[in-house]
Amino acid sequence: MKLLRTCREVAALISAREDRALSTTERVTLRAHAFICRRCTDWEKQVAAMRQSMTTWRSDRE
Ligand SMILES: [Zn+2]
Repeated sequence: MKLLRTCREVAALISAREDRALSTTERVTLRAHAFICRRCTDWEKQVAAMRQSMTTWRSDRE
């Protein structure tokens, strides 16, 4: 099992998480990478903020 991934792979996982549930291995990979990489932690926060505003936008329209 390879835990250390490139930022590109991790960014793909963060996006995939919006569409599907990640496997345990994938989640561990994300956590391990977030521990060593500030850039991906920031990206993860941005995705979470975007999802939050989309949810707000959708519920405003309903
Ligand atoms: Zn990274």
